[in-house]
Amino acid sequence: MTSINMSNNNEQKIIDIVKSQHDFFKSSSTFSYEFRIEQLKKLKAAIRKHEDEFIRAFKIDLGKSEFESYLTETGFVLLDLSDTIKNLKKWMKPKRVKTPLIMWPATSKKLYSPLGVNLIISPFNYPFGLTFAPLIAAIAAGNTAVIKTSELTPNVSLIIKNIVDETFESDYVAYIEGEIPETTLLLEQKFNHIFFTGSPRVGSIVMSAAAKKLTPVTLELGGKSPCVVDKDANLDIAVKRIVYGKFMNAGQTCVAPDFVMVHKSIKEKFLGKLKQRIIEIYGEDASLSDDYGRIVSKHHHARLIELIDQDKVVVGGYSDKASKFIAPTVMTGIVPGDEVMQDEIFGPILPVLEYENIEDAFEVISELSQHPLAGYIFSESKIIQEKFISNLQFGGGCVNHCLQHLGNFNLPFGGVGDSGIGSYHGLAGFECFSHTKSIFKPVTWFDHFSLLYPPYKKYKLDIVKWLLK
Ligand code: NAD
Repeated sequence: MTSINMSNNNEQKIIDIVKSQHDFFKSSSTFSYEFRIEQLKKLKAAIRKHEDEFIRAFKIDLGKSEFESYLTETGFVLLDLSDTIKNLKKWMKPKRVKTPLIMWPATSKKLYSPLGVNLIISPFNYPFGLTFAPLIAAIAAGNTAVIKTSELTPNVSLIIKNIVDETFESDYVAYIEGEIPETTLLLEQKFNHIFFTGSPRVGSIVMSAAAKKLTPVTLELGGKSPCVVDKDANLDIAVKRIVYGKFMNAGQTCVAPDFVMVHKSIKEKFLGKLKQRIIEIYGEDASLSDDYGRIVSKHHHARLIELIDQDKVVVGGYSDKASKFIAPTVMTGIVPGDEVMQDEIFGPILPVLEYENIEDAFEVISELSQHPLAGYIFSESKIIQEKFISNLQFGGGCVNHCLQHLGNFNLPFGGVGDSGIGSYHGLAGFECFSHTKSIFKPVTWFDHFSLLYPPYKKYKLDIVKWLLK
């Protein structure tokens, strides 16, 4: 058994688990390619075994459809595992780099060594993928890990716990159940790396705790991700892709477009098409759609309802407290000072602002959120696309689409500034959980370094000056 619940005691068990992971890591057992591959394959088999149980769990916790659960959670993780298993040997190979002339004859190389014992803390919105994606990277890089999932998705968490318990010993990978007290206790332990996915507020708590022990952190946070629709955009495509990106998982996606800035000349047409598209895919009453999710908790439901200004609603606006439902909602006539524009929305509410001049749009975006996690531009103009990409700072994004940059494992995924520190996915994930150790190896049959040793002579300086030109 590798899972712990504080209510059943168990501060000492948390402390013991972390200690046992340090001991196990020191044994070097996790280092070899064979060990890592075996663990990844075991994990894949365990996920496959429990695959069907997730359908029900995602439905209860987040109202997710089977399709969305598979695409964004189970399937995503299985693909990540296949990609990692396929590429691990290549990633682990030391990389030879050039050696400057003055240091010849010698070789220089970069080696990837595991960081050690990792703490992985995940959020509620994609509870499976955002727990296992970092765990896969941690295993691939030869580490041990303690994982802590969100208390808001208990049904998915229970299956994660079962998978971990069945697959790993607790001195290698352990699952800790719990809420703030358990996480606080975990944060008091010594880890070699903390990988946190969640809100900027809790990210700051995690980073403060890590600072006390000088523990490196990777923070995958959120922010108000902008989406610009310029006057020459392919409007039908833009609307389809924005509705998809915004209302998937009932808007509870870290990279969902938080708000749209649309060119004044196409605003009415855009709003009309938005309404049509929302009805087309979720029906006149989205609460009857099997494909539309629910808000994770009563607290978040109440928070989101507060953000809806009925006077500004052009689509949706209706909700149901008992089932934690909020209709896909679009609001217009929004200005930057409105309440809905102050923080990341993280729900199915899409404010639409208008602009006349693209530079003005950029200014508003920068004022609202200097470093959002994602940025999206819909335009057929390469100049506008390039301006958006180079003038605004954001973690990553898409041209003429939403969310999809996250699905390509060849692209590092992470934030910038206050939307995050570090990145992962594919090779970037392996690197995130590795230390790049630089090794310089000169020959011993010839000591060209004598040129650099005292006594310093004029002729030595001349040679050095020539070599360092
Ligand atoms: P959250 O920050 O409330 O919780 C994240 C984790 O921290 C959970 O496991 C929770 O139990 C724990 N936690 C909560 N309060 C804590 C405290 N005081 N001390 C220690 N641990 C604590 O985030 P959430 O509500 O679960 O998720 C939504 C946020 O996560 C949004 O801001 C979203 O943008 C962000 N997010 C980012 C990414 C990304 O990849 N960058 C992905 C998903 C979600």
